[in-house]
Amino acid sequence: MEFETKLIHAGQAADRQTGSVNIPIYQTSTYKQDAIGKDRGWEYSRTGNPTRKALEDCIAALESAKYGLAFASGLAAETAVLGGLLKKGDHVVAGDDLYGGTYRLFEKVFRNWGLEISYADSKNPASFKKAMRRNTRLIWAETPTNPLLSITDIRALAEIAKKNKALLAVDNTFATPYFQRPIELGADIIVHSSTKYLGGHSDVIGGLLAIKDKGVFEAVKFYQNAAGAVPGPWDAWLTLRGIKTLSVRMKAHENNAFAVAGFLSGHDAVSKVYYPGLETHPGHALASDQMDGFGGMVSFELKGGRRAAESFFKKLKVFTLAESLGGVESLACYPATMTHAAIPERERLKRGITSGLVRLSAGIENSDDLVQDLDRALKF
Ligand SMILES: *Cc1c(COP(=O)(O)O)cnc(C)c1O
Repeated sequence: MEFETKLIHAGQAADRQTGSVNIPIYQTSTYKQDAIGKDRGWEYSRTGNPTRKALEDCIAALESAKYGLAFASGLAAETAVLGGLLKKGDHVVAGDDLYGGTYRLFEKVFRNWGLEISYADSKNPASFKKAMRRNTRLIWAETPTNPLLSITDIRALAEIAKKNKALLAVDNTFATPYFQRPIELGADIIVHSSTKYLGGHSDVIGGLLAIKDKGVFEAVKFYQNAAGAVPGPWDAWLTLRGIKTLSVRMKAHENNAFAVAGFLSGHDAVSKVYYPGLETHPGHALASDQMDGFGGMVSFELKGGRRAAESFFKKLKVFTLAESLGGVESLACYPATMTHAAIPERERLKRGITSGLVRLSAGIENSDDLVQDLDRALKF
């Protein structure tokens, strides 16, 4: 099956009983057993639910993985990876340009549980190699990164992980499997906030994992059931509904991102544009090699810093000032005080998340409307 066909059909055969072409929403917490010890494969919906299972099978197919797992949020999925696979004294090497909530989970939760974490330059595999220790069990990378859209070499990290008998987890939220399939490049675990492009309509919070090996899957699945942060059947169904149109949406997001990035690149009020589709982006060649496209996220730096940003956000009409990304509507966000507020200021500035930085999620509206909106908002 080709990718676009999997989006519609993977995990979602017509319902055997009624022929319903959509998977029913199995709104139930428990299942009748025919006799003691004789269930029909379903016992209790924390452990398993058919609507959730359809979503889990779907993400596995999309990511060229064997196994899929669904969670109540992206961070719940991340927690299950760390909690299910690591123990006190284990070491994680993570890229330094990360979603703020991932950083917070590492620093404010798992460090207290005795996990050791160090950070490497997301753009430089040698920096990951140097950070490896004897107790390193996991490499964690996000590519393209949030919010600076730098590109990490997945093949190179997979090699480093293998050599050190560690696992490689890749947060594929920004690219989605439409543009990038890290397991095909050597990764072991794929992490998604399905709240973003997979759900695609800014109406549901969710997280997904795609996992290559059985042993890893079983450990994380054990944690999923033991800790219990599963999505309800409605949320699983909404996410499946979103996924069906992923290919048409991602093309439209990317089209608009190119229009927006091109416009911003020539603008006097803008000092820097971050979009991997631009030839001037330092990760462009690597992105062209490991991805099938460049996605819908564009960040840029305003010359006028915080004051310019305040005026810019006030004037926007089509873009909405909001956290999150990946929905059909265009969003604009101010990472310094929003998505990345959890990172201490010094650390934030060191990473390039300045007071002039703006992150855009290009929606699927008409590109002229988006460019005109930016044009108006950038008149100071
Ligand atoms: C949003 C996001 C997360 C966290 O997901 P939630 O669904 O909000 O818990 C993780 N990684 C990236 C890249 C994200 O954008």
